[in-house]
Amino acid sequence: MDENLFNRRGAENTEAEITKNKKYLIIMIKISVTPFKHKLSSSLTKQKITILQINLGKRCNLTCTHCHVEAGPKRTEELSPEICQQLIEIIRTFPQIKIVDLTGGAPEMNYGFKLLVEAAKLTNKEVIVRSNLTIYFEDEFGDLPEYFAQNQVRVVASLPCYLEDNVDKMRGNGVYDGSIKALQWLNKLGYGKEPNLILDLVYNPQLASSEKFSLTPDQVKLEKDYKVFLEENFDIRFNNLFTITNLPVGRTKLHLERKKLYAPYLQFLESNFNPNTVENLMCRDQLSVDYLGNVYDCDFNQMMNLPAKTREGENLTIAKLLAADSLDLIDEIQTAAYCYGCTAGCGSSCGGALV
Ligand code: SF4
Ligand code: SF4
Repeated sequence: MDENLFNRRGAENTEAEITKNKKYLIIMIKISVTPFKHKLSSSLTKQKITILQINLGKRCNLTCTHCHVEAGPKRTEELSPEICQQLIEIIRTFPQIKIVDLTGGAPEMNYGFKLLVEAAKLTNKEVIVRSNLTIYFEDEFGDLPEYFAQNQVRVVASLPCYLEDNVDKMRGNGVYDGSIKALQWLNKLGYGKEPNLILDLVYNPQLASSEKFSLTPDQVKLEKDYKVFLEENFDIRFNNLFTITNLPVGRTKLHLERKKLYAPYLQFLESNFNPNTVENLMCRDQLSVDYLGNVYDCDFNQMMNLPAKTREGENLTIAKLLAADSLDLIDEIQTAAYCYGCTAGCGSSCGGALV
């Protein structure tokens, strides 16, 4: 669902793209969702880049029902040594990058994970790992909690609910139990307690099974509920809770299509459009890089194959950033209908609500 397909110049359009455009137009007419761009009072522009988010690959030990990456144990796509080296060069070259945010799949399973952590720490950047927690119990990965603590990596961990049934329904049997043990392990190492060992949790809503959609609950209130429940029942402490809306991308999109809820969900998100979220959208100051070194405005665009564009309209890669000796080559952010997921209600981003 790429509304920018319409914006490309005719000469550049291949036959496949034209067919795709037509299909898109038909779908958009049927769905009757306002193109996201039309909803904005001015074009969505990039600010100075301060965050480098790297998606190391699609390998993961889990296969969650809502996964926008469609990650899993059978996926093989991952960073190559060559691209990893280019990323390390980017990290070393640009002091303007304050945060290196590592995601996947399970980023820890993919090539280059520790190399990137160490390159970022050497240059005094904050390192975030988006961890599913259960990976620490797989062969070869039992050293991760200690490794994170030694390197003061900020752990942003998925726990889509504080109740067992909901977590296991989304992520697989036994995942809740493993997550609780992992959180207790991190706590023992000082996570959630010491100021330099930050542990954040991520809430995702359950996938909709009818048109009774709802927005993510109030983040502040839900954080309190999580804290009370986890401390009382498991003696677990953590720093922040991030509420993240399910964008209709990847497995979430497939699920909605299967249930014939895709169009109604987009309409629901549009009807909750909040213009106050736009200023804080995560795509404003970040670059998202895939395992092949292609650059996107965010991880969702990455999954939907909507690359970031230079001012000249070219697709961007990290090799081009290095050659230009600049990270700030993008003026306009590429948007699509699923962007309504980031702007509905209190908004949504990898750091939680926006307003
Ligand atoms: S949501 Fe996260 S943990 Fe679940 S399959 Fe996707 S990448 Fe893996
Ligand atoms: S999906 Fe969200 S973060 Fe990505 S470009 Fe759209 S609004 Fe920005």
